[in-house]
Amino acid sequence: MTLNYYGLRLLCAMSVGESGLYIDEAVSPNTRMRSPIRRIIAFTRTKYQTAIIAEVADYGICLILDGYTQSSEVDEFIYHESLVHPVMVAHKAPERVLIVGGGEGATLREVLKHSTVREAVMVDIDGEVVELAKKYLKVMHQGAFDDPRAKVVIMDGAEYIRRAPSGVFDVVILDLTDPYSSEVARGLYTAEFYREVYRILKRDGLMVTQAGCSFFYGDTYDWVLRNVEEVFPIVCEYNVWVPSFGYACNFIVGSKVYDPAKLTIEDVERVLKEREVKEKLRFYSGRAHAAMMLMPIFRPKPVSP
Ligand code: SAM
Repeated sequence: MTLNYYGLRLLCAMSVGESGLYIDEAVSPNTRMRSPIRRIIAFTRTKYQTAIIAEVADYGICLILDGYTQSSEVDEFIYHESLVHPVMVAHKAPERVLIVGGGEGATLREVLKHSTVREAVMVDIDGEVVELAKKYLKVMHQGAFDDPRAKVVIMDGAEYIRRAPSGVFDVVILDLTDPYSSEVARGLYTAEFYREVYRILKRDGLMVTQAGCSFFYGDTYDWVLRNVEEVFPIVCEYNVWVPSFGYACNFIVGSKVYDPAKLTIEDVERVLKEREVKEKLRFYSGRAHAAMMLMPIFRPKPVSP
């Protein structure tokens, strides 16, 4: 496998351990996580990012973009169920859903579990990542790309939303690379972008974005939170520990009418049963929903100067 500059640069980020390669990933500007790589399945520099699919000790098959783990086989269900179901359950009858990002197809997989969904549009900027996922990440998409309700568009999510008509989606799910990682997603965490999301949502629509890590990147998290608060009348925050990320991953909801934080355990369980989702879940439930909504947001104690 010939390694070009990016490959060599990335390989340097994977320190060579006693028994081979490691992924050496920034959890914060100072803290790093290092895990042995069992085998590299795919490795490419796309137009937008460096993409690796590798089998990593403890985590199984992982998608790694620009050195950041996006999803791992052993715990991606925690992240994707936590990202998707709180807003889907909060909406009374989500029929048309827009996913921006989510290249692995796991967010699409979770959305399609709801029997109310008639169309799920997934817009990802990087067609090469989506093709890699289709080929090597069946463990994540589980065939979601072949669902007749699924529509995949390869385009900058900001451009897609700019062109979309007003008031057409019930739910928008932003499953992008972190706001502090590659530049390619940063514009999709701004108040200007959220105003466009607001416009394309129906009168009772709501959105959720993954928002990286409030504990290690508090300033960036606060910037995203302020941007959502500037646009939406109802905002709720929650977080969930994702072992392969090395931190509690944050989510921020912006809503016009429904507030996921107000749902009771019974509300969630009823909806999951009505929509035939309950049996298809491994992590999310009424209890998990209540726990996530009640869990404080992880913040560091300010370090004395
Ligand atoms: N689960 C991951 C996380 O928590 O960081 C995110 C998963 S997903 C792999 C991130 C996706 O966002 C990638 O497929 C990337 O191509 C896509 N993406 C980044 N910027 C984008 C943009 N401007 N428009 C559409 N998709 C974008």
